[in-house]
Amino acid sequence: MEDNLDEVENVVAPAPSPAVSSEAADESSPRGEGRGGGKRRYIGRQKVCTFCVERNRKIDYKDFDTLRRFLTERAKIRPRRQTGTCARHQRAVARAIKRARHLALLPFASSQAQEL
Ligand SMILES: [Zn+2]
Repeated sequence: MEDNLDEVENVVAPAPSPAVSSEAADESSPRGEGRGGGKRRYIGRQKVCTFCVERNRKIDYKDFDTLRRFLTERAKIRPRRQTGTCARHQRAVARAIKRARHLALLPFASSQAQEL
């Protein structure tokens, strides 16, 4: 049994976050919050909904590799302002994540994801 668990963790462990290095660099904050802002940590990368851009891409609860990008390290669902997903797709993603959790494809809480 524990062997099985180990394998699952191995699958989860690598690939820290592939989402980071996609396109972000160019258009940094046009809303002019600037750097003086202070403590507000705002992860402002892609502002475009991934699923609207790539129409082929489907939100599938079995595709946990994709869904994992919408989770924080603690396995919470990322808010829209971080992922850039539009409302409609965010809802779909959230639903898919919840399904995936139910099937144990994704963790519910940090305890399983911590291995970093
Ligand atoms: Zn969308």
